[in-house]
Amino acid sequence: MMLVLALGRFGDPKSRVLTHIRRHGATSREELVRLTGLSSSSVARTVTALLDGGLVRERPDLIPDTAIGRPSYPVELDTGNHVTLGCHVGRRTTTVSLGDISGRVVARRSFRLPRLVRDLRRTRSRSSSARSRARTTLLTGNPARAVIGAGLVAPWGDIEYDEQALGAALERRLGFPVESWELVPAIAAAEYLARSEDLPGSTMYLYSRNTVAFVMANQRPAGTEIARVGRLSHFPIGGVDVCRCGQTGCLENAVSDEAVAAKAASAGVIGTPDIELVHRAAARGDQVAHRLLCARAAALGRVAAVVRDITNPDRVVLCGQGLTGYGPALEVTRAHFAAHTATAREIGISFTRFAGDIQSIAATTVALCPVYDSPTSVLASEGGDRLTG
Ligand SMILES: [Zn+2]
Repeated sequence: MMLVLALGRFGDPKSRVLTHIRRHGATSREELVRLTGLSSSSVARTVTALLDGGLVRERPDLIPDTAIGRPSYPVELDTGNHVTLGCHVGRRTTTVSLGDISGRVVARRSFRLPRLVRDLRRTRSRSSSARSRARTTLLTGNPARAVIGAGLVAPWGDIEYDEQALGAALERRLGFPVESWELVPAIAAAEYLARSEDLPGSTMYLYSRNTVAFVMANQRPAGTEIARVGRLSHFPIGGVDVCRCGQTGCLENAVSDEAVAAKAASAGVIGTPDIELVHRAAARGDQVAHRLLCARAAALGRVAAVVRDITNPDRVVLCGQGLTGYGPALEVTRAHFAAHTATAREIGISFTRFAGDIQSIAATTVALCPVYDSPTSVLASEGGDRLTG
């Protein structure tokens, strides 16, 4: 699987105009002509269509005082009319979220057990009552907005559920198409799309929470290609703990949230094995919790260095609560990366801009990509799918 994020380069005029408005914020029609290379009349027609579809709105208040003649109003994304629905299925948690068309998550709900999965398996009906029940279950309390896409992400292959079957069940339940991606490529896409600048060359995204994986994103003239996921859950790092795969010394056993929380619980730091409690204990000054979290950060820094040496990217972006959940551990990861990489060339190493909500952002991004690829088809297919609170 190779994902290509074209950022509207080759899309129809609506795709190109909408993508530039997303990247640049409130933009005048004159600037859109310059940014897209489209003619003035084409930009004018396109903006009118996007205004009619409720995807953008005019901002008369943003006309500069120095403007001469009768300048047109700048336009920006109108985030109030539509939502995308994102579903993330993890090894321990299922999260359902709503995103606006800027990519921001506006509501989310997590289930400790895979309750959503269970519910979906029960549903075999395509009836409208089942659909409306699904919406009520998932989205109670959200204002009336039209759903213009749904996305499903998971570390497929690291969980017990089948991608095709779960995607089909979700489509039956919702009554419209669901885009399904691997979690880590979706995170890389979300990271990439949220930037206002391009990332030339090659970027390695390393993710850790309960699973560990990486992807490479390579910028080409046609767009950014995100390669298939490389799984690191069972990467051998030594140790005597037996993994769920039956081997000993797997990375997941040392660094997953679950493993760290279990260690903290057995050390008596916390009563129930919950990673948030470990973070809180460390923040209160508990030295055992702090050392456990720093040991994880060190292990992940070493693995990031190995993967960097193998893949030779131009920069590394570290993602997932396992890497970003505990502030004081960030420098530990950085230091162990620097100490263990065998490649002399210095490269940028940074942490994701999405801290707590990254799985939801990834799921709603997957739902959003078809909207930006082809706003026309999304607006054409929308009809009667308005949510009510
Ligand atoms: Zn294993």
